[in-house]
Amino acid sequence: MKNIVLITVDCLRADHMSCYGYHRNTTPFLDGLARKGMFCKNAFSNGPNTRHSVPSFLTSTYPLLFLSEVESGKFHRGRKSVAELLKERGYTTAAIHSNPYVSKFYGYDRGFDYFNDFLVGQVEDEIKRNKISRALNETIKAFRAVFMKKLPHEDGQRVNEEAIRWAEGAGEPFFLWLHYMDVHMPYIPPNKFLDELGLKRYSYTKKVWLGKKIDDIKMRDEIKDDEVEDYINLYDGSIRYTDFVLKELITELKDKYPETIFIITADHGEEFREHGGLSHLEKLYEELIHIPLMFYGKDVRHKIVERPVSLVDLVPTILDFLDMGENEWLQGESIFRSSKDFVIAEAWKNERLTAYRDKEWKLIVGGGKKELYNLVEDEKEEYNLYNKERYKKEVNEFEKILNNHIKILEEERRKRKTWLQKEKIIREIRKLKIKRY
Ligand SMILES: [Zn+2]
Repeated sequence: MKNIVLITVDCLRADHMSCYGYHRNTTPFLDGLARKGMFCKNAFSNGPNTRHSVPSFLTSTYPLLFLSEVESGKFHRGRKSVAELLKERGYTTAAIHSNPYVSKFYGYDRGFDYFNDFLVGQVEDEIKRNKISRALNETIKAFRAVFMKKLPHEDGQRVNEEAIRWAEGAGEPFFLWLHYMDVHMPYIPPNKFLDELGLKRYSYTKKVWLGKKIDDIKMRDEIKDDEVEDYINLYDGSIRYTDFVLKELITELKDKYPETIFIITADHGEEFREHGGLSHLEKLYEELIHIPLMFYGKDVRHKIVERPVSLVDLVPTILDFLDMGENEWLQGESIFRSSKDFVIAEAWKNERLTAYRDKEWKLIVGGGKKELYNLVEDEKEEYNLYNKERYKKEVNEFEKILNNHIKILEEERRKRKTWLQKEKIIREIRKLKIKRY
């Protein structure tokens, strides 16, 4: 059986990678994989940030299946993750990353034999500190960054070290999920990678300062438009660094474990004021949902997939690569089998925000607004065509699809609730039996 290495890069938007047409040579290594493996040109995350996207792609279910989960951040038991599915089939499973939103604290270690989020106690500490004083917490973080060179996330080389060390003792077949945080703010790439892109260097202190400004919600809004260029430079440098890190990882693992399929993708993109903001808040424009997706390695033939696909399709495609068939838990479809020509993304911020996206059109509904964009003529999504009479037919068709999607989600949620109740009863009965004997 083949090993699976799922690599997700936090905040990596597709259009800043050279293989997706970016003007800077940010991803020379990944460009090579795109030429050899299965390269999905129009891949989308189903949500605009970690909390929406990660639970969704790990379980092939849409982000808003459980609203309580979006609010609490806890990984819901009504979703079965790819780690659980593969473990049931004899795989050794591991996850290595340093994103607090998908840490053990929130239940994301379920199904993993080994789970390293580098955060032992840190999430709890952070929550406590935020209760005491946000200002004091920020000061501690800044002090750690400047004087101890301690950044909020572990860097990619550290993740690689852990991954390689784990794989050595794991035994095959294995499923390894690695989530890299280097492209996430504060963007602090080593200057060497800015040099490689022909960009100016930034001092370490300047990088930390810029990072602090964009990380702080209040300071973020005060960033001037002409400073955004610095952030883009540092973001691109971080992509180039990640490309280097992935080259090191994949070269070594492929050599040691030739029976491995590597999947490279991102949980969502990043906004640089295209629609008025910075970071990755609840919006569904291209900069936030158009992400890379490529498969490379054992028995993966070169193929360019032009059809829109989304991350809910990831787990079914993995199961298809492993000849494991379909699973009733999954809401996506294998890229090899599906003929669907649109994707749906969603987010929750006080109310539902849903987007329909096909090769030509995007309809976004929610937040008191309805927007229709023709992406062939208006790739920046600047001209809202929703109220134009001549597009009524398109609007009706896409709205029908979105309404149907919401209905399916509600039905599915009811089904899973029943399953959870049954599970709970079974657990209670087991407990009683243990007590009796
Ligand atoms: Zn993320």
